[in-house]
Amino acid sequence: MNPIIVLGSGLAGYTVVRELRKLNRDIPITLVTRDGGDYYSKPTLSNAFAQHKDAAGLVLTRAADMAQQQNFTLLAHTEVRAINRENKQLDTSAGTLSYDKLVLALGADPIRIPLQGDAADEVLSVNDLDDYAKLREKLNAAKSIAIMGGGLIGCEFANDLAHAGFAVSVIDPGAYPLASLMPEPAGKQLLGPLAKLGVSWHFGTSISRMDKTANGYTLTLADGSSLQADLVLSAVGLRPRIALAQQAGLSVNRGITVNAQLCSSDAHIYALGDCAEIEGKVQPFVLPIMHAGRALARILNGEDTSVIFPVMPVVVKTPAHPVAVSPVARDEIGAWQELAMGNGAKMVFADAANKLRGFVLTGEFVGERNEMAKRLAG
Ligand SMILES: Cc1cc2nc3c(=O)[nH]c(=O)nc-3n(C[C@H](O)[C@H](O)[C@H](O)COP(=O)(O)OP(=O)(O)OC[C@H]3O[C@@H](n4cnc5c(N)ncnc54)[C@H](O)[C@@H]3O)c2cc1C
Repeated sequence: MNPIIVLGSGLAGYTVVRELRKLNRDIPITLVTRDGGDYYSKPTLSNAFAQHKDAAGLVLTRAADMAQQQNFTLLAHTEVRAINRENKQLDTSAGTLSYDKLVLALGADPIRIPLQGDAADEVLSVNDLDDYAKLREKLNAAKSIAIMGGGLIGCEFANDLAHAGFAVSVIDPGAYPLASLMPEPAGKQLLGPLAKLGVSWHFGTSISRMDKTANGYTLTLADGSSLQADLVLSAVGLRPRIALAQQAGLSVNRGITVNAQLCSSDAHIYALGDCAEIEGKVQPFVLPIMHAGRALARILNGEDTSVIFPVMPVVVKTPAHPVAVSPVARDEIGAWQELAMGNGAKMVFADAANKLRGFVLTGEFVGERNEMAKRLAG
């Protein structure tokens, strides 16, 4: 019998494997990944520096131990180049593999914004352990860091690195931090507390050039101003890895499109995690991945079930000003309302029928997260 093949050793791939093993010790599983396959928690990448953790220190379980504990065949450092759906085979750097069912847990690629200048290709981004190792190494010789993007990942790195003593500049074309997750009065609450830590904010502009100097970079901004930095970190977003699926003729949109059974347009191929678009939504966060992983394990074990997502607030790791948000879809019709403002913000989003659709809590109000999630669910 051919195995279930899981592509990817991130949270999505490993959640499916672990959950499936809880239900079935015998079903053959092969996990193929182009990285080393070590198990780690990706969210720790953006708050590890101030905790003095290097990349090796973030590994929770070595790949070989995962394979032994969870009884699967591991093909690490193995790139999948193509999916041959007709023969249910994969073309990989380690040869051809046959599958019974295939799970795509391929993650997402950092978006690269094209820059001018002789250092344009020296921008770093951090989306896995190897990236983090590279960042750590470069930070040894750095004092000042420019971060492109004031979204979740940009703000988390800004807090972590400023807390560790670096001079951090955040450059973002929007008007305030976390603009894709929350309304202005809430996002602006982060400005003061992070500035106090040493973050300087540059909104309404972007980096257009990056040139080398004797000991760092000169950054020219679109508004004509310039900045010096020893290191530039891009945190402008992620793009689901859909190329393999697209080349195989699977249905894709922003992500690999799957239904509530996590099944793609091919009945033998499933997808979840950052690469997937589940019933029209890309949700690149830990909690949705864990729910999808549990549901998919049951489905692969033969159960007729679907994923159901509860209210899943996102906690932004900015201890200088903590944030919990239950985001609202961009096309949702309704309005944000301020319930309380002080050393933080408490805001809710209500639809046309005055039904609660989302919330944001920052600073002193963040402790009300569970209560607010209950209100949202009810
Ligand atoms: C810095 C940072 C901080 C974050 N903080 C939070 C947070 O606080 N809260 C939260 O909810 N979420 C957070 N997230 C998001 C969350 O971590 C991700 O949504 C999640 O880890 C994605 O898991 P994944 O398994 O889908 O993808 P990945 O972890 O990217 O795994 C993809 C896997 O696919 C493999 N792969 C890709 N292409 C191929 C190929 N062709 N052949 C073989 N293997 C391949 C890769 O090697 C990798 O093993 C954060 C993300 C980042 C980057």
